Amino acid sequence: MERRRTTSNAHEWSIERRETLYRLGKSLAIFLAAPLITLRSLQAIVHADIETTNGAHMNQLSPTADDPFRLPRHVRPDRYELRLEPDLSGAVFHGHVMIVVTVDRPTDVIVCNALELAIESALVEDAAGQRQPASITLDEPLQRCTLTVTRPLVPGEGRLHIGFRGTLNDKLRGFYRSTYKDRDGKAQPLAATQFEATDARRAFPCWDEPDFKAVFSTTLVIDSALTAVSNSAVLSETQERGKKVVRFADTMKMSTYLVAFVVGRMEASDLTLVGKTPLRLWTVPGKKHLTPFGQEIATASLQFFERYYDIPYPADKLDLLAIPDFASGAMENLGAITFRETALLVDPRSATHGELERVADVVAHENAHMWFGDLVTMSWWNGLWLNEAFATFMEMLAVDAWKPEWKRWDTFGVARAAALSVDGLHSTRPIEYAVRAPKDAEAMFDVLTYEKGASVLRMLEQHIGPTVFRDGVRNYLRSHAYGNADTKDLWISLGNAARQEVPALMDGWIFQPGYPIVSAELTESELLLTQQRFTYLSNAAAGFWQVPVQLRIQAGEKTETRRLLLMRDEERLACPEGTRFVVANEGGHGFYRVHYGPLLLERLLEGLETLAPIERFNLVNDAWASTVAGLMPLPAYLDLTSRFTTERDKNVWAVLIDSFAFLNRIIDPSDRPLLEAFVRIRIRPATAAVGWTPQPGESELTKQLRSELIGALGRLGNDAETQARAAELYATARKAAAAVDPNLLPALVAIQAFTGDAARYDEFAARFKTAATPQEERRYLFALAQFRQPVLLDRTLAKTLDGEIRVQDAPFMVSAVMHNVYGRELGWRFVKTNWDALDRRFPKQGLRRMCGGITGLCKPELERDVRQFFDSRKIDLGGKTLDQYLEQLRIGVSFRERHGETLKQYLQKAR
Ligand SMILES: [Zn+2]
Repeated sequence: MERRRTTSNAHEWSIERRETLYRLGKSLAIFLAAPLITLRSLQAIVHADIETTNGAHMNQLSPTADDPFRLPRHVRPDRYELRLEPDLSGAVFHGHVMIVVTVDRPTDVIVCNALELAIESALVEDAAGQRQPASITLDEPLQRCTLTVTRPLVPGEGRLHIGFRGTLNDKLRGFYRSTYKDRDGKAQPLAATQFEATDARRAFPCWDEPDFKAVFSTTLVIDSALTAVSNSAVLSETQERGKKVVRFADTMKMSTYLVAFVVGRMEASDLTLVGKTPLRLWTVPGKKHLTPFGQEIATASLQFFERYYDIPYPADKLDLLAIPDFASGAMENLGAITFRETALLVDPRSATHGELERVADVVAHENAHMWFGDLVTMSWWNGLWLNEAFATFMEMLAVDAWKPEWKRWDTFGVARAAALSVDGLHSTRPIEYAVRAPKDAEAMFDVLTYEKGASVLRMLEQHIGPTVFRDGVRNYLRSHAYGNADTKDLWISLGNAARQEVPALMDGWIFQPGYPIVSAELTESELLLTQQRFTYLSNAAAGFWQVPVQLRIQAGEKTETRRLLLMRDEERLACPEGTRFVVANEGGHGFYRVHYGPLLLERLLEGLETLAPIERFNLVNDAWASTVAGLMPLPAYLDLTSRFTTERDKNVWAVLIDSFAFLNRIIDPSDRPLLEAFVRIRIRPATAAVGWTPQPGESELTKQLRSELIGALGRLGNDAETQARAAELYATARKAAAAVDPNLLPALVAIQAFTGDAARYDEFAARFKTAATPQEERRYLFALAQFRQPVLLDRTLAKTLDGEIRVQDAPFMVSAVMHNVYGRELGWRFVKTNWDALDRRFPKQGLRRMCGGITGLCKPELERDVRQFFDSRKIDLGGKTLDQYLEQLRIGVSFRERHGETLKQYLQKAR
């Protein structure tokens, strides 16, 4: 699945980047005078933890009979023949399924999953040919359906025939109903599915666990005017009782969570053939012209993966479908990948680079899953990280190969930084943990699974070498094709390819929470490296890692790269004579922070131009995190930001600007003008150098940088001149869109909202409704959370409940208002007052994302109120989500308490 994640697009920093607090401290590191902390070897403790974790995880692989979350295994499915007849206007469906099963031992009980289904009939046949009706018991809490027969079934192949009916719900899960407005403004329904993790059981009775793989033969009976798409090619279309009967070919053996059907009025793009695979994109009517870009990356990435994996695409066709209402970003159903519209449909002429990159990323991510996830699937939900981390890693490889000029791995630094932020919390978690109830895995769809997971895979790939890594992956996929596998299986394959022990290296990164900060300092002839766990609040947390460190040593005219595995608390390296400086984490692939001693730091700052953009990014990011963690004084960090006035990398600027935005959240409103003045001083020189108009031949990254800088200057800097110019340019763009670089548009729109009044609010609300592309719709929608007047923000909040804003977007809007320093009290009051209604209306994961907004409430009195509210209502957001939000909030408030006065004094002097 592709979670709805943040983008690195300029103006979104105000919206999405702040939407999850994990951006809080993109971090890092430099620090001047902090003494090295004494390190203890924690290896023994860590190993004990890993044993425990592995032990728990092994238990899950051999479920016991009394485990309420695992079905008994004496009857297993081999094949489903499924016939479904959805009634879109009535929002119900009828179904029948014939399941071929293997019965291991004589039994009179068959247990499978079913939820919110009414079972109308059940008949059982066994290997001896005896047919008998079964009595049915539905267990709602356990989500099970038990069929009981009077004469025990004999072992061998049996068949179940079950008739059932259900509701097309509006909760964006199971078999659900989405609606959209057609060209005449009339609401039209569409039915779609979202089964991961455990919602196939809402659509048909099944063995809804990933290792009960089976073949699916699906038939959909639909209104003649509609189209149906499922996982495999259409075998036949016939008419029956005035209905269209669409029969699909058998799928490969696969898990239930990958089954999909979409039914509605839809248009398809032209077909492209990728090898033998027909590939198409689908949209609701009127949006077909937005498909070519998605089709191009879908084609390119499918070709890339066939080569990389050296295994043909495993299904008989590939459809990519844009669904108007969709909970996550996209879902890797085999051969029928579903997307939210912004993740698939785009007009390259009017989209920003970030918006295009988002489509490319998500499409490549889902295609990568066709092998990693679909062909080979995790045995149980504890292995979800591997699916998602791997797909995220592969999406980078594929997009980087497709558009090397996008420098995708550099920009990935922003995503890695987001993971470092969350993983610097005490309330973080290991990437992989024991999952007993599948719902425990729901909280796994987060930055730790996707971005930390992908980061540590990248670190491993760089450590053992890309070719060796690829060979290991090929071996893993071949060995487990059509089956299931676990983390240890991947390590075995990679270890064989690399001829080294991978678990010893990787277990610390996977089964242990957090990551190290590696301190580096030069003495006369030696480089001293030490490690300890990094946390924002107090630094006593335990942890020890095998850290692949890549060093670049600059001595005189000579530059040397060295790789080593930091296996102990402390390592001393002899340096060549005349060593000037050392870059730790060369290339930026390591998932750790670096803390340079004073001498090294100063030399690095003097030689900034010799660092790669990703290395400068890490330098600033680590310095800022160290500041938030109290390892670097705030004035030292603010001084350091002055060394970047000639910086031209947009990612480096994104970190700098995010740190200013953090200060904006904690500063007293009466001191805000001081901060605005400081921001103007820091940003103006770069803005002046980049200018307002794209220059011939400039890179995509420069276009994004311009938007980032102007957006920050106009809002965080509250710069009147920038605001005036932005207003002019926005007016020009309204008259002639082609006259303004689309990359600049998000910044212009955001500034217009920031300075806007009620008339402009009305204009934006109207543009949101009549937008020509999903991206434009989204831009104007999120702008509605960027105004400053409470009365306007109140209107935005109301729209999240009255249906004017789709359920897929509404939670993010509430969160965005809470992250707006002018709207946070209002947003929080809205959440408190309307909690029950929001809980009813939003899908669980939407509610979880909405609550991410509390991390913006950086005031002591708000923090107290937030804690009291969640405590008294006993609200559980799943996993450690709420704890993480609360800790992030604590970090903001404690920063304010510790540094509020220092900040004010510094800013007064800086004027
Ligand atoms: Zn995914």
